[in-house]
Amino acid sequence: MSARLVIMGPQGAGKGTQAARLAERLGVPAISTGDIFRANISAGTPLGRLVQEITAKGDLVPDEVTNDMVRDRLAQADAASGFILDGYPRNAAQVVELDGILADTGASLDAVIELTAHREELLARLQKRAQVEGRADDTDEAIARRLDIYAEQTAPLTAAYAERGLLVQVDGIGELDDVTARLLAALESLDAQV
Ligand code: ADP
Repeated sequence: MSARLVIMGPQGAGKGTQAARLAERLGVPAISTGDIFRANISAGTPLGRLVQEITAKGDLVPDEVTNDMVRDRLAQADAASGFILDGYPRNAAQVVELDGILADTGASLDAVIELTAHREELLARLQKRAQVEGRADDTDEAIARRLDIYAEQTAPLTAAYAERGLLVQVDGIGELDDVTARLLAALESLDAQV
């Protein structure tokens, strides 16, 4: 199964968890832009200092910063034959940028997975996670901001990927193992069609 993948879905849909599981099964790295920003914030790097306030509010980091970071990460050896990108692209400009980054190495995306869940489930999961993890952007205001940005800027991107025949929609509600099994089955059926 070819594996240059993007995983999309609203906050709380379980992207990070499922991306890690898929990555292990497929033998490719899961690359989460949010995790990279958080690691830089914890380590107090210049990038971390630059994005700390922006991410705490739930706003998007400027595209130039995020694009350069993703370009550098995808250039690393472990991503040469595949990856699962989580949290990128998040707006139309980033879609164009990702196409360009991949085209520069003669590569292209194999599939874009959209993990779906309804709003009540998302809010319930995020409130629970806020208590467990204490992320700086899990305040009520930042959660609302992130869900709004997702609905306005990120969710519409799936239409463009659907037109390219890349979109795979998977229901994110249910047991973790069941969702992983659904994801693998959906990717296999997409692979069989090409
Ligand atoms: P979530 O999906 O739960 O909102 P992430 O861990 O994916 O969280 O991202 C956390 C924060 O990092 C975002 O709210 C945003 O500030 C920043 N971020 C992550 N990815 C991007 C991106 N592609 N473009 C701009 N900002 C981003």
